This record gives sequence, C-alpha cells and structure tokens, in this order.
Amino acid sequence: MSASLEDIVSLAKRRGFVYPGSEIYGGLAGVYDYGPLGVRLKRNIQNAWLKFFVDGWDDMYQIDAAILMNKKVWEASGHASGFNDPLVECSNCHSRLRADHIEGDKCPVCGKEGTLSEPRQFNMMLKTFLGPLEDENGLTYLPPETAQSIFVNFKNVVDSFYPDMPFGMAQIGKAFRNEISPREFLFRVRELELMEVEYFVHPDKWEESFEKWRKDVHIFFKKVGLPEDMVHELEVPEEDRAHYSKRTIDFEFDFPFGRRELLGLAYRGDYDLKRHQEASGRSMEYRPKDGGETFIPHVIEPSVGVGRLFLAILSAAYTEDEVEGEKRIYLKLPSHLAPVKVAVSPLLKNKPELVEKAKEVYKMLQKEVGNVMWDDNGNIGKRYRRQDEIGTPYCVTIDFQTLEDDTVTVRNRDTTAQERIKITALSSNL
Ligand code: ATP
Repeated sequence: MSASLEDIVSLAKRRGFVYPGSEIYGGLAGVYDYGPLGVRLKRNIQNAWLKFFVDGWDDMYQIDAAILMNKKVWEASGHASGFNDPLVECSNCHSRLRADHIEGDKCPVCGKEGTLSEPRQFNMMLKTFLGPLEDENGLTYLPPETAQSIFVNFKNVVDSFYPDMPFGMAQIGKAFRNEISPREFLFRVRELELMEVEYFVHPDKWEESFEKWRKDVHIFFKKVGLPEDMVHELEVPEEDRAHYSKRTIDFEFDFPFGRRELLGLAYRGDYDLKRHQEASGRSMEYRPKDGGETFIPHVIEPSVGVGRLFLAILSAAYTEDEVEGEKRIYLKLPSHLAPVKVAVSPLLKNKPELVEKAKEVYKMLQKEVGNVMWDDNGNIGKRYRRQDEIGTPYCVTIDFQTLEDDTVTVRNRDTTAQERIKITALSSNL
C-alpha cells in the first residue's frame, strides 16, 4: 500500500522534519519550516544535486546571487507584467482558485455549479520596498526563480573565466511565488528553494545538449531513490509552452495525490539574454576562442524545487510492513540521504559500564562515519521504531557480550536482521 499525504505530513511533523510555518499563530498558508532532521535531509538532497550536476562537470559554474535585485531585471525579463496565473472566484463561497486547475464549471470547494467568474490574470510576484518610502522608487520584487540572477551574471562569469561553449551556470536559491491556492504540503508553497542550471549552448547545438540533460535527469532521480516507474516524461505541447521555447519536458512523479510536475526541462532559446541585452544596453554576445562569429547563446534549463523533490523522496521512501505481527513504518531512504547514518545505544541506560562503552563506540563512529545519533530513550524496541521512522540505515547496540568480546549488534533498517560485528570492523561495514 502506498503512503497517503496525511501519513507523510504526520510523520514529518512528529519526527522533526517539517513543521507548518508560524504554527503557534495558526500557521501561514503555503509556508513551512524545516526541523532538525528535515534540514539534514534537505542538505543531503542539495549535496546530491551539487555532486551530480555541478561538481561532476568540468564546465559548470555555481553562483550564489543576492535575493534582491534591481526591479529593472524583472521588467526586462517580463515577470513584472507577465508572471501571471489565471484566477477565478466563486460567487457562492468566495474561494479564489486557479482556473487551469479546475475541470468544468463546478466550484471544487463548495460544489456549486455555474458560480465561477471569468478568469482574470493574477500576478504572482511578491513585492517589497527598499528604503524609507513605500513608493515606486523603492519598489522591487522577490524572485520567483533563480534563473534571472544567473542571466544577469552571465557576462561576469564569461569575463572572469572565458569558458568554452557549452557551459553551465548553477544556483540553489530562494524563490517566492504568491500562489493563488498553495496546497498539498511542500508541493505548492509560496516560499520555496530552487535548484537550477542555465546551460549555455551554440544555437545549432541545443538538441544534443537537451538530449543529454533528459537522460541525466533520469539518472539523478534514480540516485536519490525515486523508482523509475514513478517518473514520467510529459512533452509539453506547443500551445502550453512559453512562446520562446521550442521544447519543454515536464518530469512528472506519482505523488500520493496524483501524477504532477516534479522538474521542468526547458529550452529557453536566447530569449532571456536578448531581453537583458536590450534593456541594459550591455552586450550578451559570446565570442568563440577560435575566432568564429559572435552569437548570443541559447539556454537549456533544468529546474526543480528542493521541497517538491524532498516530498517526492519522502513519498517514495515511506514504507509500511509488519514485523512480528506489528505494523512498522520506516523510511527506505538511500543511505547518502538519510539524516542519521547510524544510531548508537547502550542496551540498558542504567548500567554505567554499558553506557561508557557505548559512548566510546559513539565517539569512534562520529569520527569515522559522521552523522551519528546517540539514542538511549525508551526500550530497545521503541528506539528501533523511532530510528526506522527517520530512515536510519543502521542501529548499533552495546550489550553485556560487548564487554566480553568487543562485538556489537548491528541492526539493518530494511531487513530488521541483526548481526554481531567486531567494533574494529564496524566503520567499514556501515
Ligand atoms: P505550475 O504550473 O505547477 O505552477 P510551473 O510550471 O510554473 O509550475 P516552473 O516555473 O517550471 O513551474 O518551476 C520549476 C520547478 O519549480 C517545478 O518543476 C517545481 O519543482 C518547482 N516549483 C514551482 N512552483 C513551486 C511551488 N509553488 N512550490 C514548490 N515548488 C515549486
């Protein structure tokens, strides 16, 4: 049986992965806070992305741009006037909804028919004001994507590094979208984090790069534990693509609430660099080292939300089985993503000799493996259950036999099998 969204939300809260934002004041729609274990899982996901898409390439340049930018950036990119979603309002229950998420003319909230207004364009950019006066001069926007700060820095990177084509610029950064109806937990939020690459190519070469990216996205998803049969490609038809895009693939995932977009792979042509060249008056042309003709590079963009990927990974990892007649919940996370790699416990916490020995093992593993959790709360059965729920691949227990022969029990999360291992061989066996 696959997990329901409620199962995942409840585990995430209970075990300190994700809390509703501003919860003690009744929350804030579309905003979530990551707790101690969520931060670790998120960091591990980001590291996996960096390792695969940035550090593993010779031609990738990561930047970390400021969130705030001159509002002219957003005017040039078209977001200030055009980053819109179609909004409809129900005259019966006054719900505001996204027109493209509704089928037929029935309000999905109150169920009445024929109460929905004509759609109007709603701009999703969040505004803020810099300086003492809340006026046009101080107005700017919070970014809805990290891509624009990459385009704005394109020339800087070319001038500093003079990379060969193709090359990419990557960024992990915060983004804000005033979503009409945030929902489905981390799937649609108003404050999010994006992992984006803008891959610059010669206009004649975009197709081969696009194909390489398409394959790499699948390999990456496999590395972070998403089963192949839960990931699907959707070729976005021309009428649904941005007008400047000749090809876009949405990588969809079977979330507990249905098949939805997880990552977008878009060919953006030279649209963005051209707009910034026109608006800023600065050349965005690239001069090939072999003396060939200058050109404005075209761009391929894989873009994924960290939170959406986090939710997909949790959904894929959430597993229920039965152990000795009792229901068990565990997260089958790949070991490199697990927030805790190994938990160490003394069998009994009121036996100083066991605690002392367990502390020694804990310190050794912390040095040699890292990400170790000390766990002496409750009986051993409860500890295993708790570690299962947070996806800890191994639990090490120090018992009376340890004091005699320097072996410990290592319990495997997925099989629940236990084996005795010499302390000296522990690190290499985890
Ligand atoms: P949608 O049509 O669902 O609103 P989009 O097509 O506008 O999404 P993109 O602009 O392509 O989304 O965003 C790229 C990626 O950013 C998405 O694939 C998703 O992983 C993530 N993303 C976008 N909006 C949100 C959001 N509100 N909450 C969480 N993640 C998001």
